[in-house]
Amino acid sequence: MKCPNSECGGILIESRADWHYRECGLSNVILRGMPVLHCLTCEHRNVVFSESEFAYKDISRELLLLPRTLLADEMRFLQEEMRLRDSELSFKMKRSLKEVRRWLSWKSALDPISDLRVRLLGAERIFCEPEAGRMKDAVLRMFRTEYQDKSSYHRMIFIQCGNKK
Ligand SMILES: [Zn+2]
Repeated sequence: MKCPNSECGGILIESRADWHYRECGLSNVILRGMPVLHCLTCEHRNVVFSESEFAYKDISRELLLLPRTLLADEMRFLQEEMRLRDSELSFKMKRSLKEVRRWLSWKSALDPISDLRVRLLGAERIFCEPEAGRMKDAVLRMFRTEYQDKSSYHRMIFIQCGNKK
């Protein structure tokens, strides 16, 4: 394959590399071992995205089990995966629309109870049975044992590619 950079005309080769997956809307997701096309002549690099579509479920799984307060962009990612509007999310979380919008726009941090609610809702809406039930149990276990009410520390999420279930 030829480099899409018309002034270059170099040859593209495929290899596996880690890809900082900003395209998913989060700043902390690294896809490991993604097929990446890179040009032998210029700096052109492009990930082969057909293989990354499955990663959304893997990212959701990691977010649901992240042992610290969910950040606004992470909550928004789950909201999109749950296919819920702000008003529907507020109804299901039993919190006001104003509060939900404050969380989604980085204006205030989720309290642990609301954080737990978002995740249980996510387990239910993003996954099918029997995985949904297993995810709920895992979320509850994580809240009992590891969860820290902190939104300050950033934690990278690594998704291994090529092990499609
Ligand atoms: Zn090139």
